[in-house]
Amino acid sequence: MNAEVLRNEFPMLVAGDKEAKPLAFLDSTATTQKPASVIDAMDDFYREHYSSVKRGVYRLSARTTEAFEKTRKDVAKFINAKSEDEIVFTRGTTESINLVAWSYGRKFFEAGDEILISGLEHHANIVSWQLVAEMKGAKIKVIPVRDDGDLDLSKLPELLTPRTKMVAVAHVSNSVGTVNPIAEIIATTRKLAPQAKVLIDAAQSSSHIKIDVQKLDCDFLAFSGHKMYGPTGIGVLYGEYDVLDSMPPWHGGGEMIKNVTFEKTTYADVPARFEAGTPAIAEVIGLGKAIEWLNNVGLDNIRKHEEQITQYALKQLAEIPQVKVLGNPKERGALISITLDGIAVGDAAMILDEENVAVRSGHHCAQPVMDRFGVDATLRLSFGVYTLERDIDRFVAGIKRVVRLFA
Ligand code: PMP
Repeated sequence: MNAEVLRNEFPMLVAGDKEAKPLAFLDSTATTQKPASVIDAMDDFYREHYSSVKRGVYRLSARTTEAFEKTRKDVAKFINAKSEDEIVFTRGTTESINLVAWSYGRKFFEAGDEILISGLEHHANIVSWQLVAEMKGAKIKVIPVRDDGDLDLSKLPELLTPRTKMVAVAHVSNSVGTVNPIAEIIATTRKLAPQAKVLIDAAQSSSHIKIDVQKLDCDFLAFSGHKMYGPTGIGVLYGEYDVLDSMPPWHGGGEMIKNVTFEKTTYADVPARFEAGTPAIAEVIGLGKAIEWLNNVGLDNIRKHEEQITQYALKQLAEIPQVKVLGNPKERGALISITLDGIAVGDAAMILDEENVAVRSGHHCAQPVMDRFGVDATLRLSFGVYTLERDIDRFVAGIKRVVRLFA
């Protein structure tokens, strides 16, 4: 894999490279740039093939339905689901988690039940559970985080109880960068709390690390199209078929029914049961292209490249005494969070922006992580398939300027 060559497939980055101060885009954890093939597929759909899905006998609509359903098959294959019926299209990771909370949780959680999450979660994997826990009288428990940013799994035996109904954990933390040992967490859950279901938040791993849901043995997997080189507004919920089939609908509307009368409505089989209304058709087609693109590049190649870039960045940052890296996890995803001695990270991000270096400063929708490490905010640099050493060099030069300005 040649990242320099691949970068030419991203119109935003090609344009960015031509600016007086070239764009160093280091915010791929928030969202990735899009390759031309994804943009073109959506453009082509709107210009040449546009129609709704499932609703027409006319050929145009039949072809659109076929393209739409092909993506469902491609997603199933991408994560090695047993069947495309286990793939529900949502608006993103947030909606996927909310779907499980409001459908599975509303039916199966009872007062006194426990939902186990980790101390490294994004707000999407905290608040969604809090809302349903409050309604049902269930309790949230948290796997603690060690100083190095790894989860303290020695606490699992006491945290997993006969009342645990759901274990919901991120594959990769979006704030520290920790790659959580989800296979181990799932195996321990199966042993100590076999009644519990497991949801993996794969928002930060789906375009970085190969996932096999059958091998992993999770019940649910949630991820977002826009973080894997695809469009916004489309996400995926994988659910093991029997688990999905046990769940009631959560949104009512068209396409999720078998038969409607004013007295009684019967619901469609999964996954249609969870897809009320006209779906994000162009976005599904774009997601299909993104998966094709990812398959062509190869997730293993991407992971290798991003590991090199991450190590390169860590080495450069270690040479700046004012920089503190948040955590030192055993395995790190494609991101690094830092703080700067005596300098507000928001100020640093503004100065970096003057250099056309795009990074995120803030709590990254992970306030409990900030609390755990005793900081208000961090500066986060994050990488994708197109990130080059020269982007890191620009960031490091920018940070050195920040340090000089504030010294
Ligand atoms: N979980 C994690 C770990 C994330 O990083 C994000 C996005 N920052 C989400 C959930 C939410 O994803 P989305 O906003 O695409 O729904």
